Amino acid sequence: MRIKNVTVLGGGVLGSQIAWQTAFKGFNVIIYDISEESLEKSKKFHKGFSEYFKNYKNATEKDIDKTFSNIQYTTNLEEAIKNADLISESVPEVFEIKKEIYEKLSKLAPEKTIFTTNSSTMLPSQLAKYTGRPEKFLALHFANPVWEANIGEVMGHEETSPEIFEIVVNFAKDIGMIPIPIKKEQSGYVLNSLLVPLLHAAETLYFDGVADYKDIDKTWMISTGSKFGPFGIIDLIGMNTLYNIIKMRGEKLNDKKILSRAEKIKKNFIDKNKLGVSTGEGFYKYPNPEYQKTDFLK
Ligand code: NAD
Repeated sequence: MRIKNVTVLGGGVLGSQIAWQTAFKGFNVIIYDISEESLEKSKKFHKGFSEYFKNYKNATEKDIDKTFSNIQYTTNLEEAIKNADLISESVPEVFEIKKEIYEKLSKLAPEKTIFTTNSSTMLPSQLAKYTGRPEKFLALHFANPVWEANIGEVMGHEETSPEIFEIVVNFAKDIGMIPIPIKKEQSGYVLNSLLVPLLHAAETLYFDGVADYKDIDKTWMISTGSKFGPFGIIDLIGMNTLYNIIKMRGEKLNDKKILSRAEKIKKNFIDKNKLGVSTGEGFYKYPNPEYQKTDFLK
């Protein structure tokens, strides 16, 4: 089976990137989101990505025009999925929202459609029973930004068909990702199994007042040669996702200290529209964040 028509559910931070990259690689893409306002945000992201691709990815005007002409935007779910070969789901990292969307898809999507989730913290087996097609459901997990951190982690659950797994591995290659097949279900895949403990440690050092966020980033960048420290990474991921992850951890462990961190993220960042790179400010200001300046590491 060849994938041609791709529907992206949720055109936020990651969904808008997945849609752009997929359209850039020549696929027909439809973005579904819940409101016109959200779709306007996706369109704004796409304007920004088009500039970035022209400046840093050698994309020509023609490539950019073609990419835009490959993308449609809609708030009508039925329309969005009626011809989909593959769905890439990037709705918020909230179990009830994901469950509800898969219940709807199970009734509306054509039989051929493969469902992939981009969930960073949930396992496919937690959602499979709501999809109505567990054999055609698996995770294709992207990293941020999709075109620089271009891995596509492919992870099924016990009932995922091996043929479908292979189709998704090939699709990941076709849209310019390096596929990382995950051999058994692992919460956090490979990347987040490494990254989440790092970010958790960084937040703890910062919120406990052990060190300033810039010094924490400097420590990591100097000692590992990385281009980003944990707080630079948090700005890329976006505060909404960070908030949801911290809140889930706090609720799971019934830990008031962790829950109060989530509230601080909400009050100091989300409520002030400091969502990270996407809104121009998080811990750092964008473009040209301080950690990219030459004297930051001095
Ligand atoms: P986001 O909040 O930026 O975007 C979510 C989008 O979904 C918004 O546009 C919102 O309007 C829309 N939405 C809300 N309810 C919806 C519904 N019922 N149907 C369709 N759309 C709906 O979130 P994000 O950071 O893009 O994260 C989305 C998913 O991607 C999560 O599962 C997250 O774990 C995963 N992910 C995020 C990152 C990252 O760096 N941000 C990286 C990898 C994976």
